Amino acid sequence: MKTLNKTLLVIGGGPGGYVAAIRAGQLGIPTVLVEGEALGGTCLNVGCIPSKALIHLAGEFERACRFTSSNPLGIRVQEPAVDLGQAQRWKDGVVGKLTGGVGALLRKAGVQVVKGRATIVDGKTVDVAPHEGEPLRIACEHLLLATGSVAVDLPNLPVGGPVITSTEALALTEKPQHLVVVGAGYIGLELGFAWRKLGVDVAVVEATGRILPGYDEELTQPVLASLRRLGITLHLNCKAEGLTDTGNGLRVRSSQADEYVLPADKVLVAVGRVPRTAGFGLESLQLDMAGRAVRTDEQCRTSMRNVWAIGDLTGEPMLAHRAMAQGEMVAEIVAGRRRRFAPMAVPAVCFTDPELVVAGLSPDEAEARGMDVQVASFPFAANGRALSVEGSEGFVRVVARKDTHQVLGWQAVGQGVSELSTAFCYAIEMGARLEDVAGIIHAHPTLGEAVQESALRALGHALHI
Ligand code: FAD
Ligand code: NAD
Repeated sequence: MKTLNKTLLVIGGGPGGYVAAIRAGQLGIPTVLVEGEALGGTCLNVGCIPSKALIHLAGEFERACRFTSSNPLGIRVQEPAVDLGQAQRWKDGVVGKLTGGVGALLRKAGVQVVKGRATIVDGKTVDVAPHEGEPLRIACEHLLLATGSVAVDLPNLPVGGPVITSTEALALTEKPQHLVVVGAGYIGLELGFAWRKLGVDVAVVEATGRILPGYDEELTQPVLASLRRLGITLHLNCKAEGLTDTGNGLRVRSSQADEYVLPADKVLVAVGRVPRTAGFGLESLQLDMAGRAVRTDEQCRTSMRNVWAIGDLTGEPMLAHRAMAQGEMVAEIVAGRRRRFAPMAVPAVCFTDPELVVAGLSPDEAEARGMDVQVASFPFAANGRALSVEGSEGFVRVVARKDTHQVLGWQAVGQGVSELSTAFCYAIEMGARLEDVAGIIHAHPTLGEAVQESALRALGHALHI
């Protein structure tokens, strides 16, 4: 067996692991990254990037379809069609550019990349079965675990045949006639919207009484209205029981205990993700766990000295930007810098139509902490930019302390609001007060003016409402 010695060994080349390795390389730390599949991890290969590419192409197709009949813009298009094979090649091209870019960045930072599955021997030793060449044993001073997460399985709907996960749902080259999505969370709704816009009959089965249970009802209301407008059927308070004997239907049971069958040539199971902790010797370290996630402190240290964990492996929120921020921080700590992971806001965006974004505290979260807050909203119906791009549904909402007016949180729903997450986080992290946001000149006409107007409204003197 060949051997290798490095200061830092990273297992997993997703957003957490590859960012940690790049930063470590930049800081001159001898670093090796082991990746068993493809650089970029879930996010670049089968998650954030391909899903946003699919959502974009579906949106463009649906827009073209809207122009086949009379419309306020007066545009006429005849018989739009989509070549899914070509569309998938385009999407794969986007992924390829980004994953290739990650490889180049790692090379530039001087990181050694080993392609193969890693198995932990102990806190300082890892064996790798490389895709090519002989087995390798790597010794390290610091071991960083960034193995990500896997989709939750439903025992009565094992993946295979018509039952698929997001990975297969992103790669379909033929349109199913009837797609049933189990789970009205991030994945179920982002991909449900996309396939509906591509012309597929989509039904969503959700165990709870509402869509996107992680967001408050006022925020999800415009998304619900849009689902209905597009003809996506919702089955709330329902559970998937299993496929019918013929395999082309899904048996669903509602909370009223009646069972019925939905036609389904594909069933997308999207009921959450869990940390990837099995199959690579993690248990041998006997680390403290927090439920199914590896327990870490504010510096992403595990219960074993010099063993670190970041990203989805450490639990919620399972978001790429959180994993990246943790990875960058761990590299800096290993290099001797004083850092800790204590953001005031980890923004979350759901790329439905319309989009949702939250950053910092919601009104309910602030109330649960016993804080005295004031809350104000500004509707996009009063925003010139939103009206001129036919995106007048939704609003921006601000949450601020009543005594000091310090901004604690933002929420928004509307077309293109994902891009407002940057302004939201700047205001929160920089300790802005309502007066600061209200006093900044926001370019006209932009959606950002709704951010300023919501702060003005909280102060009692909104200008355009
Ligand atoms: P991962 O990206 O999962 O990377 C872990 C890597 O470790 C993998 O490449 C895996 O092959 C490797 N690995 C595991 N075990 C071993 C081993 N033993 N040896 C070698 N390699 C190993 N998040 C967002 O912020 N925005 C989005 O829009 C978004 N969209 C998403 C859409 C979908 C469909 C999905 C599924 C997820 C989405 N996410 C999104 C979540 C995001 O993908 C994850 O939060 C992010 O990828 C986590 O990064 P990570 O580095 O922790 O793990
Ligand atoms: P999720 O937690 O967002 O939603 C799962 C949904 O399934 C919930 O509404 C839940 O009530 C429902 N559910 C659970 N069990 C069920 C059952 N037996 N029958 C019917 N419904 C059931 O999970 P997800 O959509 O699978 O996404 C996983 C994770 O991936 C997210 O939590 C997020 O961290 C990440 N992600 C993020 C983005 C983004 O940032 N835009 C996009 C996609 C995924």
